[in-house]
Amino acid sequence: SKTKELIELDKMHYIHPTSAPKDVAENGPGIIFSDGNGIYVNNLEGEPYIDGMSMLWNVNLGHGQEELAEVAKEQMLKIAYSSSFKGFSNEPAIKLAEKLATMAPGDLNAVFFTSGGSESNDTAFKLSRFYWEQKGKSEKRKIISTKNGYHGVTFAAQSATGIPATHEFAGSSVEGFYHATPHLINCELGDKGDPNYEQSIRSLIEKEGADTIAAVIIEPVQGAGGVNIPPEGYLQAVRKLCDEFDILFIADEVICGFGRTGKMFGVDNWDVVPDLMCIAKGITSGYAQLGGVMINTNVREEIVNFEGVLAHGFTYSGHPTACAVALKNIEIMERDGILENVQNMEKELEKGLAYLQDKHDIVRNCRTIGLLSAFELYNPERGEHFDPSVNAASAVVDECFDRKLILRHIGSFRVAIAPPLIINKQEIERMIQVIDESITAFKKKLG
Ligand code: PLP
Repeated sequence: SKTKELIELDKMHYIHPTSAPKDVAENGPGIIFSDGNGIYVNNLEGEPYIDGMSMLWNVNLGHGQEELAEVAKEQMLKIAYSSSFKGFSNEPAIKLAEKLATMAPGDLNAVFFTSGGSESNDTAFKLSRFYWEQKGKSEKRKIISTKNGYHGVTFAAQSATGIPATHEFAGSSVEGFYHATPHLINCELGDKGDPNYEQSIRSLIEKEGADTIAAVIIEPVQGAGGVNIPPEGYLQAVRKLCDEFDILFIADEVICGFGRTGKMFGVDNWDVVPDLMCIAKGITSGYAQLGGVMINTNVREEIVNFEGVLAHGFTYSGHPTACAVALKNIEIMERDGILENVQNMEKELEKGLAYLQDKHDIVRNCRTIGLLSAFELYNPERGEHFDPSVNAASAVVDECFDRKLILRHIGSFRVAIAPPLIINKQEIERMIQVIDESITAFKKKLG
Protein backbone atom coordinates (compact mmCIF):
# COMPACT_ATOMS: atom_id res chain seq x y z
CA SER A 1 0.00 0.00 0.00
CA LYS A 2 0.98 3.64 -0.31
CA THR A 3 1.29 3.97 3.47
CA LYS A 4 3.67 1.00 3.71
CA GLU A 5 5.78 2.35 0.88
CA LEU A 6 6.05 5.80 2.47
CA ILE A 7 6.92 4.31 5.85
CA GLU A 8 9.83 2.39 4.30
CA LEU A 9 11.11 5.49 2.50
CA ASP A 10 10.76 7.58 5.67
CA LYS A 11 12.72 5.02 7.71
CA MET A 12 15.55 5.09 5.22
CA HIS A 13 15.84 8.73 4.27
CA TYR A 14 14.10 11.07 6.70
CA ILE A 15 15.86 12.25 9.87
CA HIS A 16 13.08 13.63 12.06
CA PRO A 17 13.54 16.71 14.24
CA THR A 18 13.09 16.35 17.98
CA SER A 19 12.32 12.64 17.66
CA ALA A 20 13.99 9.43 18.79
CA PRO A 21 15.99 8.60 15.64
CA LYS A 22 16.55 4.92 16.41
CA ASP A 23 12.87 4.38 17.05
CA VAL A 24 11.79 6.13 13.85
CA ALA A 25 14.46 4.40 11.75
CA GLU A 26 13.35 1.02 13.09
CA ASN A 27 9.61 1.43 13.47
CA GLY A 28 8.79 4.21 11.04
CA PRO A 29 6.85 7.41 11.66
CA GLY A 30 3.99 7.36 14.16
CA ILE A 31 1.60 8.86 11.67
CA ILE A 32 1.75 10.29 8.17
CA PHE A 33 -0.60 13.25 7.96
CA SER A 34 -2.55 13.63 4.79
CA ASP A 35 -5.09 16.40 5.19
CA GLY A 36 -7.07 18.25 7.79
CA ASN A 37 -10.10 20.32 8.57
CA GLY A 38 -10.64 22.53 11.60
CA ILE A 39 -9.34 20.76 14.69
CA TYR A 40 -9.09 17.46 12.80
CA VAL A 41 -6.20 15.94 10.87
CA ASN A 42 -6.41 12.74 8.84
CA ASN A 43 -3.85 10.03 8.27
CA LEU A 44 -3.38 8.55 4.80
CA GLU A 45 -6.25 6.15 5.41
CA GLY A 46 -8.54 9.11 6.07
CA GLU A 47 -8.89 8.35 9.79
CA PRO A 48 -9.49 11.60 11.70
CA TYR A 49 -7.49 12.61 14.78
CA ILE A 50 -8.18 15.60 17.00
CA ASP A 51 -5.18 17.91 16.87
CA GLY A 52 -5.14 18.76 20.57
CA MET A 53 -1.79 20.55 20.28
CA SER A 54 -2.41 22.67 17.15
CA MET A 55 0.53 20.54 15.95
CA LEU A 56 3.40 22.49 17.55
CA TRP A 57 1.24 25.12 19.28
CA ASN A 58 1.01 26.95 15.97
CA VAL A 59 -1.98 25.96 13.80
CA ASN A 60 -4.13 28.47 15.62
CA LEU A 61 -6.87 28.86 13.01
CA GLY A 62 -7.02 25.11 12.48
CA HIS A 63 -6.48 23.05 9.36
CA GLY A 64 -7.88 23.48 5.86
CA GLN A 65 -8.47 27.26 6.08
CA GLU A 66 -9.22 28.05 2.46
CA GLU A 67 -8.75 31.78 2.78
CA LEU A 68 -5.15 31.33 3.87
CA ALA A 69 -4.49 29.01 0.95
CA GLU A 70 -6.17 31.44 -1.45
CA VAL A 71 -4.17 34.44 -0.32
CA ALA A 72 -0.94 32.44 -0.60
CA LYS A 73 -1.85 31.38 -4.14
CA GLU A 74 -2.76 34.94 -5.13
CA GLN A 75 0.51 36.30 -3.80
CA MET A 76 2.54 33.49 -5.34
CA LEU A 77 1.06 34.24 -8.73
CA LYS A 78 1.88 37.95 -8.33
CA ILE A 79 5.36 37.50 -6.91
CA ALA A 80 6.01 34.55 -4.63
CA TYR A 81 9.29 35.82 -3.31
CA SER A 82 11.28 39.00 -3.45
CA SER A 83 14.40 40.17 -1.62
CA SER A 84 14.36 42.66 1.22
CA PHE A 85 18.13 43.18 1.23
CA LYS A 86 19.71 46.52 0.28
CA GLY A 87 16.48 48.36 0.98
CA PHE A 88 14.29 46.35 -1.41
CA SER A 89 10.75 45.92 -0.18
CA ASN A 90 7.31 44.48 -0.92
CA GLU A 91 3.73 45.40 -0.14
CA PRO A 92 2.72 42.48 2.12
CA ALA A 93 5.81 42.96 4.30
CA ILE A 94 5.21 46.71 4.62
CA LYS A 95 1.53 46.25 5.44
CA LEU A 96 2.25 43.48 7.93
CA ALA A 97 4.91 45.58 9.67
CA GLU A 98 2.40 48.41 10.04
CA LYS A 99 -0.35 46.06 11.23
CA LEU A 100 1.93 44.51 13.85
CA ALA A 101 2.82 47.97 15.12
CA THR A 102 -0.86 48.70 15.75
CA MET A 103 -1.34 45.37 17.53
CA ALA A 104 1.76 45.20 19.69
CA PRO A 105 1.72 46.76 23.15
CA GLY A 106 3.38 50.07 23.99
CA ASP A 107 5.87 51.48 21.54
CA LEU A 108 6.86 48.22 19.86
CA ASN A 109 6.43 49.83 16.49
CA ALA A 110 8.95 48.25 14.15
CA VAL A 111 9.78 44.70 13.14
CA PHE A 112 12.69 42.66 11.80
CA PHE A 113 11.31 39.62 9.95
CA THR A 114 12.71 36.09 10.19
CA SER A 115 11.43 32.64 9.26
CA GLY A 116 10.74 31.28 12.73
CA GLY A 117 11.18 31.40 16.46
CA SER A 118 14.82 30.41 16.82
CA GLU A 119 15.91 32.92 14.20
CA SER A 120 13.85 35.56 15.97
CA ASN A 121 15.54 34.90 19.30
CA ASP A 122 19.02 34.87 17.77
CA THR A 123 18.14 38.14 16.06
CA ALA A 124 16.88 39.64 19.31
CA PHE A 125 20.15 38.74 21.06
CA LYS A 126 22.20 40.30 18.26
CA LEU A 127 20.07 43.42 18.12
CA SER A 128 20.37 43.77 21.91
CA ARG A 129 24.15 43.56 21.75
CA PHE A 130 24.19 45.92 18.78
CA TYR A 131 22.02 48.36 20.72
CA TRP A 132 24.52 48.48 23.57
CA GLU A 133 27.45 48.76 21.16
CA GLN A 134 25.75 51.79 19.64
CA LYS A 135 25.36 53.20 23.13
CA GLY A 136 29.10 52.76 23.69
CA LYS A 137 28.57 49.88 26.11
CA SER A 138 29.88 46.98 24.08
CA GLU A 139 30.74 45.04 27.23
CA LYS A 140 27.02 44.47 27.77
CA ARG A 141 26.77 41.11 25.96
CA LYS A 142 25.45 38.45 28.32
CA ILE A 143 21.95 37.07 27.98
CA ILE A 144 19.95 35.91 30.96
CA SER A 145 17.13 33.43 30.48
CA THR A 146 15.39 31.01 32.81
CA LYS A 147 15.54 27.35 33.67
CA ASN A 148 12.83 25.41 31.85
CA GLY A 149 12.55 28.20 29.28
CA TYR A 150 12.49 27.10 25.65
CA HIS A 151 13.79 29.41 22.97
CA GLY A 152 14.68 27.16 20.05
CA VAL A 153 17.64 25.26 18.70
CA THR A 154 19.96 27.52 16.71
CA PHE A 155 23.22 28.01 18.61
CA ALA A 156 22.17 31.08 20.57
CA ALA A 157 18.51 30.12 21.04
CA GLN A 158 19.66 26.70 22.22
CA SER A 159 22.07 28.33 24.64
CA ALA A 160 19.28 30.46 26.08
CA THR A 161 17.04 27.42 26.40
CA GLY A 162 16.94 26.10 29.96
CA ILE A 163 15.77 22.56 29.27
CA PRO A 164 18.81 20.32 29.70
CA ALA A 165 18.13 17.88 26.85
CA THR A 166 17.97 20.74 24.35
CA HIS A 167 20.50 23.00 25.99
CA GLU A 168 23.15 20.31 26.15
CA PHE A 169 22.54 18.60 22.81
CA ALA A 170 25.86 17.98 21.06
CA GLY A 171 27.60 20.15 23.63
CA SER A 172 26.90 23.08 21.39
CA SER A 173 25.76 25.83 23.67
CA VAL A 174 27.79 28.99 23.33
CA GLU A 175 29.26 31.29 25.96
CA GLY A 176 27.53 34.23 27.52
CA PHE A 177 24.19 32.66 28.45
CA TYR A 178 23.01 32.34 32.06
CA HIS A 179 19.90 30.72 33.48
CA ALA A 180 17.99 32.14 36.43
CA THR A 181 15.41 30.19 38.37
CA PRO A 182 11.99 31.35 37.28
CA HIS A 183 8.75 31.42 39.22
CA LEU A 184 7.76 27.94 40.20
CA ILE A 185 4.21 27.09 39.65
CA ASN A 186 3.85 23.39 39.09
CA CYS A 187 7.01 22.99 37.15
CA GLU A 188 9.43 20.11 37.20
CA LEU A 189 12.04 22.14 39.04
CA GLY A 190 9.44 21.77 41.74
CA ASP A 191 10.55 22.45 45.27
CA LYS A 192 14.16 22.61 44.16
CA GLY A 193 13.48 26.08 42.88
CA ASP A 194 13.31 29.43 44.53
CA PRO A 195 9.79 30.77 44.91
CA ASN A 196 11.32 34.18 45.42
CA TYR A 197 11.80 34.71 41.72
CA GLU A 198 12.60 38.39 42.02
CA GLN A 199 15.55 37.66 44.30
CA SER A 200 16.69 34.76 42.13
CA ILE A 201 16.93 36.88 39.00
CA ARG A 202 18.32 39.84 40.92
CA SER A 203 21.11 37.71 42.44
CA LEU A 204 22.13 36.41 39.04
CA ILE A 205 22.23 39.95 37.63
CA GLU A 206 24.31 41.12 40.57
CA LYS A 207 26.64 38.14 40.37
CA GLU A 208 27.30 38.57 36.64
CA GLY A 209 27.28 42.34 36.81
CA ALA A 210 24.65 44.48 35.13
CA ASP A 211 27.30 46.23 33.08
CA THR A 212 27.98 42.92 31.29
CA ILE A 213 24.36 41.97 30.63
CA ALA A 214 22.59 42.89 27.40
CA ALA A 215 19.17 41.37 27.90
CA VAL A 216 16.85 39.12 29.84
CA ILE A 217 14.61 36.83 27.78
CA ILE A 218 11.55 35.05 29.11
CA GLU A 219 8.42 33.46 27.77
CA PRO A 220 5.36 35.10 29.37
CA VAL A 221 4.12 31.54 29.92
CA GLN A 222 6.76 28.82 29.60
CA GLY A 223 5.48 26.43 26.97
CA ALA A 224 7.70 23.47 26.12
CA GLY A 225 9.16 23.67 29.64
CA GLY A 226 5.85 22.60 31.12
CA VAL A 227 3.11 25.21 30.56
CA ASN A 228 4.20 27.15 33.63
CA ILE A 229 1.88 30.08 34.17
CA PRO A 230 3.54 32.81 36.21
CA PRO A 231 1.99 34.19 39.35
CA GLU A 232 0.68 37.76 39.31
CA GLY A 233 3.62 40.11 39.62
CA TYR A 234 6.25 37.96 37.93
CA LEU A 235 6.44 39.71 34.58
CA GLN A 236 6.11 43.10 36.25
CA ALA A 237 9.02 42.22 38.53
CA VAL A 238 11.21 41.19 35.59
CA ARG A 239 10.32 44.44 33.79
CA LYS A 240 11.26 46.43 36.88
CA LEU A 241 14.56 44.62 37.33
CA CYS A 242 15.46 45.32 33.71
CA ASP A 243 14.69 49.01 34.21
CA GLU A 244 16.60 49.16 37.47
CA PHE A 245 19.74 47.58 35.97
CA ASP A 246 19.52 49.06 32.48
CA ILE A 247 19.01 45.72 30.75
CA LEU A 248 16.77 45.07 27.73
CA PHE A 249 13.71 42.92 28.30
CA ILE A 250 12.95 40.43 25.52
CA ALA A 251 9.59 38.65 25.61
CA ASP A 252 9.57 35.36 23.72
CA GLU A 253 6.00 35.37 22.41
CA VAL A 254 6.56 32.54 19.96
CA ILE A 255 3.85 30.40 21.58
CA CYS A 256 1.89 33.03 23.51
CA GLY A 257 1.54 35.54 20.67
CA PHE A 258 -1.54 35.79 18.47
CA GLY A 259 -4.23 34.80 20.88
CA ARG A 260 -3.00 31.60 22.49
CA THR A 261 -3.48 32.95 26.03
CA GLY A 262 -6.76 34.77 25.33
CA LYS A 263 -5.03 38.12 24.75
CA MET A 264 -3.27 39.10 21.54
CA PHE A 265 0.12 38.74 23.24
CA GLY A 266 1.08 36.92 26.41
CA VAL A 267 2.48 40.06 28.03
CA ASP A 268 -0.93 41.74 27.62
CA ASN A 269 -2.22 39.52 30.45
CA TRP A 270 0.00 41.47 32.82
CA ASP A 271 0.14 44.83 31.01
CA VAL A 272 3.88 44.59 30.65
CA VAL A 273 5.69 46.12 27.67
CA PRO A 274 8.98 44.50 26.69
CA ASP A 275 11.75 46.27 24.75
CA LEU A 276 11.89 43.51 22.16
CA MET A 277 9.28 40.90 21.40
CA CYS A 278 9.90 37.70 19.44
CA ILE A 279 7.04 36.30 17.41
CA ALA A 280 6.53 33.30 15.08
CA LYS A 281 4.20 30.26 15.01
CA GLY A 282 0.66 31.69 15.35
CA ILE A 283 1.44 34.73 13.19
CA THR A 284 0.54 32.59 10.15
CA SER A 285 -1.17 29.71 11.98
CA GLY A 286 1.62 27.60 10.50
CA TYR A 287 0.44 28.16 6.91
CA ALA A 288 3.77 29.75 6.06
CA GLN A 289 7.11 30.02 7.82
CA LEU A 290 7.42 33.42 9.40
CA GLY A 291 8.82 35.02 12.52
CA GLY A 292 9.92 38.44 13.62
CA VAL A 293 11.39 40.61 16.32
CA MET A 294 9.41 43.66 17.28
CA ILE A 295 11.43 46.51 18.74
CA ASN A 296 10.53 49.62 20.67
CA THR A 297 11.26 53.22 19.71
CA ASN A 298 14.44 53.32 21.74
CA VAL A 299 15.99 50.29 20.06
CA ARG A 300 14.73 51.39 16.65
CA GLU A 301 16.41 54.78 17.11
CA GLU A 302 19.81 53.17 17.65
CA ILE A 303 19.34 50.97 14.58
CA VAL A 304 18.13 53.62 12.16
CA ASN A 305 20.84 56.04 13.23
CA PHE A 306 23.57 53.54 12.43
CA GLU A 307 25.63 54.78 9.47
CA GLY A 308 26.83 51.36 8.26
CA VAL A 309 25.10 48.26 6.94
CA LEU A 310 23.12 46.12 9.39
CA ALA A 311 24.96 42.90 8.65
CA HIS A 312 22.13 40.61 9.64
CA GLY A 313 19.31 39.25 7.51
CA PHE A 314 17.80 36.06 6.19
CA THR A 315 16.95 35.24 2.59
CA TYR A 316 13.38 34.87 3.76
CA SER A 317 13.19 38.03 5.91
CA GLY A 318 10.03 39.76 4.75
CA HIS A 319 8.92 36.88 2.52
CA PRO A 320 5.98 38.32 0.57
CA THR A 321 3.90 35.13 0.53
CA ALA A 322 4.47 34.44 4.23
CA CYS A 323 3.60 38.07 5.06
CA ALA A 324 0.44 37.94 2.93
CA VAL A 325 -0.64 34.80 4.79
CA ALA A 326 0.07 36.49 8.14
CA LEU A 327 -2.02 39.53 7.19
CA LYS A 328 -4.95 37.30 6.23
CA ASN A 329 -4.48 35.21 9.38
CA ILE A 330 -4.71 38.35 11.53
CA GLU A 331 -7.67 39.63 9.52
CA ILE A 332 -9.55 36.36 10.14
CA MET A 333 -8.65 36.46 13.85
CA GLU A 334 -10.17 39.92 14.15
CA ARG A 335 -13.17 39.28 11.90
CA ASP A 336 -14.15 35.99 13.57
CA GLY A 337 -13.65 37.11 17.16
CA ILE A 338 -10.97 34.51 17.85
CA LEU A 339 -9.81 36.17 21.10
CA GLU A 340 -13.35 36.05 22.43
CA ASN A 341 -13.63 32.39 21.47
CA VAL A 342 -10.39 31.63 23.30
CA GLN A 343 -11.67 33.39 26.42
CA ASN A 344 -14.93 31.42 26.29
CA MET A 345 -13.29 28.09 25.51
CA GLU A 346 -10.76 28.63 28.28
CA LYS A 347 -13.66 28.26 30.72
CA GLU A 348 -14.82 25.05 29.05
CA LEU A 349 -11.34 23.59 29.12
CA GLU A 350 -10.93 24.53 32.78
CA LYS A 351 -14.27 22.92 33.55
CA GLY A 352 -13.23 19.75 31.72
CA LEU A 353 -9.93 19.53 33.55
CA ALA A 354 -11.60 20.13 36.90
CA TYR A 355 -13.89 17.21 36.09
CA LEU A 356 -10.89 15.00 35.32
CA GLN A 357 -9.14 16.02 38.52
CA ASP A 358 -12.29 15.31 40.51
CA LYS A 359 -12.76 11.91 38.97
CA HIS A 360 -9.15 10.68 38.85
CA ASP A 361 -6.96 10.83 41.92
CA ILE A 362 -3.90 10.73 39.66
CA VAL A 363 -4.72 14.05 37.98
CA ARG A 364 -3.22 17.12 39.65
CA ASN A 365 -2.11 20.68 39.06
CA CYS A 366 -4.37 21.48 36.13
CA ARG A 367 -3.63 24.93 34.77
CA THR A 368 -5.04 26.86 31.88
CA ILE A 369 -4.53 30.27 30.38
CA GLY A 370 -6.51 30.82 27.20
CA LEU A 371 -6.12 27.62 25.24
CA LEU A 372 -2.74 26.79 26.72
CA SER A 373 -3.08 24.12 29.32
CA ALA A 374 -1.48 21.21 31.16
CA PHE A 375 -2.17 18.68 33.86
CA GLU A 376 0.13 16.46 35.89
CA LEU A 377 0.06 12.79 36.76
CA TYR A 378 0.49 12.08 40.40
CA ASN A 379 0.87 8.82 42.26
CA PRO A 380 -1.26 9.05 45.43
CA GLU A 381 0.49 6.01 46.92
CA ARG A 382 3.91 7.68 46.65
CA GLY A 383 2.50 11.04 47.63
CA GLU A 384 4.31 12.55 44.63
CA HIS A 385 4.54 12.30 40.89
CA PHE A 386 4.91 8.88 39.31
CA ASP A 387 8.41 7.53 39.25
CA PRO A 388 10.00 8.70 35.97
CA SER A 389 10.52 5.05 34.99
CA VAL A 390 6.73 4.70 34.66
CA ASN A 391 6.70 7.36 31.91
CA ALA A 392 3.19 8.17 33.04
CA ALA A 393 2.68 11.20 30.82
CA SER A 394 3.85 9.55 27.64
CA ALA A 395 1.74 6.47 28.48
CA VAL A 396 -1.38 8.63 28.83
CA VAL A 397 -0.53 10.52 25.64
CA ASP A 398 -0.16 7.17 23.84
CA GLU A 399 -3.56 6.07 25.13
CA CYS A 400 -5.02 9.32 23.79
CA PHE A 401 -3.32 8.75 20.45
CA ASP A 402 -4.82 5.25 20.24
CA ARG A 403 -8.19 6.98 20.72
CA LYS A 404 -7.35 9.51 18.02
CA LEU A 405 -6.46 12.53 20.09
CA ILE A 406 -3.03 14.10 19.71
CA LEU A 407 -1.56 15.62 22.88
CA ARG A 408 2.02 16.07 24.02
CA HIS A 409 3.84 14.89 27.11
CA ILE A 410 6.42 17.10 28.77
CA GLY A 411 8.89 15.16 30.84
CA SER A 412 7.57 12.17 32.72
CA PHE A 413 4.47 13.57 34.39
CA ARG A 414 3.06 16.53 32.50
CA VAL A 415 0.58 16.47 29.63
CA ALA A 416 0.09 19.61 27.53
CA ILE A 417 -3.08 20.63 25.71
CA ALA A 418 -3.21 23.48 23.19
CA PRO A 419 -5.96 22.99 20.61
CA PRO A 420 -6.63 25.31 17.65
CA LEU A 421 -8.19 28.58 18.78
CA ILE A 422 -11.29 27.92 16.66
CA ILE A 423 -12.31 24.94 18.81
CA ASN A 424 -15.92 24.85 20.06
CA LYS A 425 -17.56 23.57 23.23
CA GLN A 426 -18.58 20.17 21.82
CA GLU A 427 -15.07 19.59 20.56
CA ILE A 428 -13.57 20.41 23.95
CA GLU A 429 -16.02 18.04 25.59
CA ARG A 430 -15.01 15.32 23.15
CA MET A 431 -11.35 15.95 23.93
CA ILE A 432 -11.99 15.68 27.67
CA GLN A 433 -13.95 12.50 27.17
CA VAL A 434 -11.03 10.93 25.30
CA ILE A 435 -8.57 12.01 28.01
CA ASP A 436 -10.94 10.57 30.63
CA GLU A 437 -11.04 7.18 28.86
CA SER A 438 -7.29 7.26 28.33
CA ILE A 439 -6.54 7.90 32.00
CA THR A 440 -8.89 5.08 32.96
CA ALA A 441 -7.08 2.76 30.55
CA PHE A 442 -3.69 3.85 31.90
CA LYS A 443 -4.79 3.19 35.48
CA LYS A 444 -6.06 -0.25 34.51
CA LYS A 445 -2.72 -1.17 32.99
CA LEU A 446 -0.91 0.01 36.12
CA GLY A 447 -2.99 -2.55 38.02
N1 PLP B 1 10.47 30.14 21.46
C1 PLP B 1 9.44 29.42 21.95
C2 PLP B 1 8.74 29.93 23.17
C3 PLP B 1 9.04 28.24 21.33
O1 PLP B 1 8.05 27.52 21.84
C4 PLP B 1 9.72 27.82 20.16
C5 PLP B 1 9.32 26.58 19.47
O2 PLP B 1 8.58 25.76 19.97
C6 PLP B 1 10.78 28.58 19.70
C7 PLP B 1 11.12 29.74 20.36
C8 PLP B 1 11.57 28.16 18.50
O3 PLP B 1 10.83 28.39 17.36
P1 PLP B 1 11.19 27.65 16.00
O4 PLP B 1 10.99 26.19 16.25
O5 PLP B 1 10.20 28.23 15.02
O6 PLP B 1 12.59 27.98 15.64
